[in-house]
Amino acid sequence: MMLCIIYFVTMKIYISIILILITVQLRAQSNYKRITHFVLDATIGAGTEYETPYYILRTEKEYPKILIDAGIHGDEVAGIYAIDTVMKYINVREGTVAFIPKVNIQAYRNNTRGMGEDLNQVFPGNKDGKIYEERLAYEFMKFVEEFRPDVVINLHEAWTKFDENWYNKKKDKSFGQTLITNSEDPPRFLKNALNRINYNITNEEYKFRIQYFPFKPNHSMDNIIDKLKIPSYTVETLRILPLQERINYQIYCILSFIDEAGIIFDYDPAW
Ligand SMILES: [Zn+2]
Repeated sequence: MMLCIIYFVTMKIYISIILILITVQLRAQSNYKRITHFVLDATIGAGTEYETPYYILRTEKEYPKILIDAGIHGDEVAGIYAIDTVMKYINVREGTVAFIPKVNIQAYRNNTRGMGEDLNQVFPGNKDGKIYEERLAYEFMKFVEEFRPDVVINLHEAWTKFDENWYNKKKDKSFGQTLITNSEDPPRFLKNALNRINYNITNEEYKFRIQYFPFKPNHSMDNIIDKLKIPSYTVETLRILPLQERINYQIYCILSFIDEAGIIFDYDPAW
């Protein structure tokens, strides 16, 4: 008899807890506007130690189509977090937007530039490479080739701010707050995106500028342009700035490029 009562009381507590949980969940759902087309498509390098997810926001209209990647260098985190934020609040209406937030996911987990090798030094990669970054670069290229975006944007960060004199004198890699192109004559697309980005930045010192960087055979951007004939540009935020500020700059860049690519979307962080 005693056991029976204990059993019933316990069951009642269980049922109450379950009901409370369901209520909380329903309430959370009703407050949250769902983005219905949010899709985790698959991963690059499925089943390998470098397996990393990509996300594609699809609509009924496939083009215009943009691919944005971050984490080619695992410790340049502002672009990675910016993608997380944009994916949460964007609602794409026309066109396709794809993200690969953590290209070198192992390097990201270890908060380092690369593991066996700097990934941005081994493009276009090698499918039988001994170091995993070489195989990852190969699979990344294969993904871009099959996906066929109109443009690819690579999100990076640099330790120092761009300084023209310093660059001309020493060819120093000071690329903070720049949009990099390997074309000496930047296309209208890039100039327009730059204007959109800088419109959001009030501090003159941290407005972006376009920087020409000569062709480098081992870089992802140059291989996308050269081998796949797809335009590609690189964003570099200044890494000594506070993280939240860098994330905001990266968000401006992502949204400006998506906009300039002709994709129709809403973006409302108040959701
Ligand atoms: Zn980088």
